[in-house]
This record gives sequence, C-alpha cells and structure tokens, in this order.
Amino acid sequence: MIPDRDALGPPPVPGKEIVKDLHAFIAGLPKAELHVHHVGSASPRIVSALAARHPDSDVPTDPEALVDYFSFTDFAHFIQVYLSVVDLVRTADDVRLLTYEIARDMARQNIRYAELTVTPYSSTRRGISDRAFVDAIEDASIAAEADFGTVLRWCFDIPGEAGLESAEETTRIALDLRPEGLVSFGLGGPEIGVPRPQFKPYFDRAVAAGLHSVPHAGETTGPQTVWDALTELRAERVGHGTSAAQDPKLLAYLAEHRIPLEVCPTSNIATRAVSSLAEHPIKQMVAAGVLVTVNSDDPPMFGTDLNNEYLVAAELLDLDESGVAALAKNAVDASFLDAAGKAKLNAEIDAYTMSWLAP
Ligand SMILES: [Zn+2]
Repeated sequence: MIPDRDALGPPPVPGKEIVKDLHAFIAGLPKAELHVHHVGSASPRIVSALAARHPDSDVPTDPEALVDYFSFTDFAHFIQVYLSVVDLVRTADDVRLLTYEIARDMARQNIRYAELTVTPYSSTRRGISDRAFVDAIEDASIAAEADFGTVLRWCFDIPGEAGLESAEETTRIALDLRPEGLVSFGLGGPEIGVPRPQFKPYFDRAVAAGLHSVPHAGETTGPQTVWDALTELRAERVGHGTSAAQDPKLLAYLAEHRIPLEVCPTSNIATRAVSSLAEHPIKQMVAAGVLVTVNSDDPPMFGTDLNNEYLVAAELLDLDESGVAALAKNAVDASFLDAAGKAKLNAEIDAYTMSWLAP
C-alpha cells in the first residue's frame, strides 16, 4: 500500500542539479505545440527585422528596447502592443519571413510539429490579398520543413474584437482557399464584451467543411464561456480554458469527453489572467482527469518559450522526466496529426526518454 502523501510531509524540493537535468531533458525532448500565435511568435530578432522594414512604426528596432516594450500592465495593454506588432506585417514577403523564421526558432527547441494560430484577416485588411497570404504561409512551411524538419499546420482564427465582418472573411478564406496545411478553426482576442455564441454560424460552416473547432475560451472570463465554446462552437479542444477549474461539472465533462485544454501558464501570469503561478489551476485540471497540454501562446512577448513552459509545468505538477514525457505525448494525442503521424512522434518521445533514463 502506498502511504498517504500527507503522512510523508511535503514533497522534496528539487535541487538545482535536478532542475538543470530536467531542463536539458526538456530541451532535447521532441515536442508538439498546439497553442501558439503566428505574430505572437515573432521573437525580438524577427520583430526588429520587420520594424526595420517599416520605420514609420512605433515599435522599437533595438532588441533590448523590445524587452521593455513587451512588458504589460494588463490584458488590454497586451492586446494594444500585440496589435502594433501585427501592424508590422504588411506584405506577403513579411508574412513569409515571419513564418519561416518562427519555424527556425521552433526547431531550436526540438518542436517537431506545431499548429500555428494564424489570423488571415489581420493581413487581408492591410491590403495583402488572401491568395498572396495563403501562398506565403504555405511556401514558408514547405521551405521550413525541408530546412529545419519542423512541420507547421494552421489554425485560422477569428479576431473576436474585429466582429462578425472578420468572422465572415476568415471563414471565406478558410473554406474557399483551403490551404493544404489548414487543420482547424479558432477564435481569439478579448473575451469580455465579445460573447462566443454570435460566432456559431461561422464555426458550423467550418466544421461542416471538415475543420476542427479550437476556440479560445475561459482565459479572462468565467466557465460559462467554456460551456458556450463547447455547446455553441462545438469545440474539440479549448484554448486556455483556465476558468474551467472553477466548475467541477465542466472539468468532469472535459475529462469524460476527452476535450483537451491548451494550457499556457506564463501567458496567464503575463496577462494577469491568473495572479501567480502558485495559483495556476493546472493541478486541479490534471487531478480531474482532463487531458492537459502545455503551450507558449505568444512566447517572446511573454519572455518564455515552450521548453520553459514544460519546466514551469514540471514544477507546478511535480513531474520527473517520465511525467514530462507523458505531458509531451498529451500534446501529440491532442493534436490533429493523423494516426500514423501521432504514432511516429510518440515513438520518438519514447525512444528519447528511454535513452535518457537508461543507466
Ligand atoms: Zn492564444
């Protein structure tokens, strides 16, 4: 019989060596990422290249000044800064550069597969044609896969703050142009004042056309938004879902129906959606049997990357190497890779973990 954990006292605090080893393990671990934004992945290196192309912008070109520029007071401020970087992506060639360079940054972290959340409306309303936009991301993805070995797939996302016109435009581009790499349909931007049910007709059309439904929900609003995403938008996976932890019935529903959550711990702190890592509800989600995946959201803007998010999750969930590998396999299982693709990436994770743990 295993003694009650409480009877044993608090769990041991990992020493610096263990954290260092876990860090190295995570760095080499083959990984999938399911919740990461296109423009939000622009590292200071990429943003400064884009800002230099467009000197009329307010965004600093100096990578060091960008660190201050990316420090947010609240979620509204984050959206404001985010949109100023969106404004740097003005031509199809900017789109291509951004996409290709993101894949380079991912490959450096051993991210083998990513479903990148892309917002075509942000580009088409700035005058890039829908066809040029789609061609730019597809072209970058083919080149990136050949050069870096990282597979990119797309989630086309409605920017909620831009209203139903953007929903119509996003749906039209997704369904009429239907790029090869498009697997899912999403909804992002602020949740407060942007009720989810109004987007139901667009999600119905996308799902009928074979796209998977992956809206953001419950990041800055309560569990009802997550219920709305499930019942109105037919969510198969939920972006964040942070407030689901406030509703035991919702957690039980997510667990029973195997609807994964895309958890982004550092993002939640940076946007003040959660006040501290100690208060992050990831532990309750896992305890309720929900399939939890770990993601970076807008990594350079939040001073993080996927490897760091795994380290944060390992600390919050008290995981060793095997536990971290299981978390990485959650992301593969929750992805929209086909069965063969999932089996291959899971086998790589197993082989890596076994070789790491071998005496
Ligand atoms: Zn997001």
